[in-house]
Amino acid sequence: MRLLIATTNLGKAREIKAELLGAGIGELELLTLHDFPAIPDVVEDQPTFGGNAMKKARHYAVHSNVLTLADDSGLCVDALDGAPGIYSARYAGQPCDDAANNRKLLSAMKDVPAEKRGAQFVCALALALPNKPLVVLSDYVIGGIAFAPRGNNGFGYDPLFVLPERRLTTAELSMEEKSQISHRGKAVRRLAQWLLENPIPSQ
Ligand code: IMP
Repeated sequence: MRLLIATTNLGKAREIKAELLGAGIGELELLTLHDFPAIPDVVEDQPTFGGNAMKKARHYAVHSNVLTLADDSGLCVDALDGAPGIYSARYAGQPCDDAANNRKLLSAMKDVPAEKRGAQFVCALALALPNKPLVVLSDYVIGGIAFAPRGNNGFGYDPLFVLPERRLTTAELSMEEKSQISHRGKAVRRLAQWLLENPIPSQ
């Protein structure tokens, strides 16, 4: 099966690839948007993670003519009424700058006490064929926002996202450890299960 993972974010692509390749869904030829440099960008203007994921999946499936998996994900912080949410990548402005986003988040949280620093990472995944949408599903992981960045792995807000039971940030975990518990890892495993139950006719 040829599957386009509709992202240029290498951190995300790596996590999704590792999870799918271990899922037992048969031979997979995995592509990313780096294999389709001529496809125009899509405007992520939907009000939900799921809406944006499906908009991206349909757009890239139509333009590539390949079965396409798109993800839309982000960080929802309780004390900020769910922000940055669907705006996570561009919280500190465009283009996406992880360090600037993390500085802005720390500044917005500077007066928030430890017990009110709850947050979730959310991941929606959508799968589309060139001629039809197939499925949208999502998952999440609960954690909190640290007072200072810690760890060098992962990407985005990982240095600030603390897992309460582990007392580590997701940037202090290996990719494999993060995938086991993360919003994206859990959503990709759901998707792999969906693919096992709904085999795609060969294209
Ligand atoms: P998207 O590319 O529009 O889905 O934006 C996702 C943004 O959410 C990223 O740029 C990160 O800022 C943040 N994000 C999503 N998933 C993760 C993660 O696993 N770790 C850290 N940050 C994440």
